[in-house]
Amino acid sequence: MIPRSLYDRCCREALTLVDRTGVVLTDAERAAIEAADFGLSDHRRQGLQLITLFATDRLSMRLLVLLPNQTEPEHRHPPITDGPTPNPGKEEHIRALYGDLRFYLPGEDTLREGFVPEGKEDVYTLRHEVILRPGDQLALPAGTPHWFQSGPAGAVFFSTSTTVHDGLDHFTDPAVVRETVIDETA
Ligand code: ZN
Repeated sequence: MIPRSLYDRCCREALTLVDRTGVVLTDAERAAIEAADFGLSDHRRQGLQLITLFATDRLSMRLLVLLPNQTEPEHRHPPITDGPTPNPGKEEHIRALYGDLRFYLPGEDTLREGFVPEGKEDVYTLRHEVILRPGDQLALPAGTPHWFQSGPAGAVFFSTSTTVHDGLDHFTDPAVVRETVIDETA
């Protein structure tokens, strides 16, 4: 659950970061920005802002925004097993546009710049750190577990991928609920 006032404030703040990238958005795209709190009610620490630029049955392009020192919980995009053809799950390519962006992947522990959200050590298990500066890209083959985080400047990046099925994503933290509920009274 996220209070409406916090939701709106985070979306506004995210748009100011997007504006620093030079990426041009239409008024409709600005209005369509969303915040995702992953049901953790801890949005400023563990959450994400996003704008879907397009999403078809095969492709998707999103602009993702992390506010300063914000973290997206660890997850992976599993195979889709109920379709007519085999689908290994979402393949995703990241392109950093602004700020300090850190990805955490399987591999040797190289965590130096980032941090595991306090008290969440058991549900952030990946420690292989990849730092992305503006212009850097990162390929995430289908099924690759990952989590990501921004530094003090926040981060804006493109995520171009095969079809998005957010509702099927597997999160390490059993407390995650993918649907964001907004408390309109707060
Ligand atoms: Zn992902």
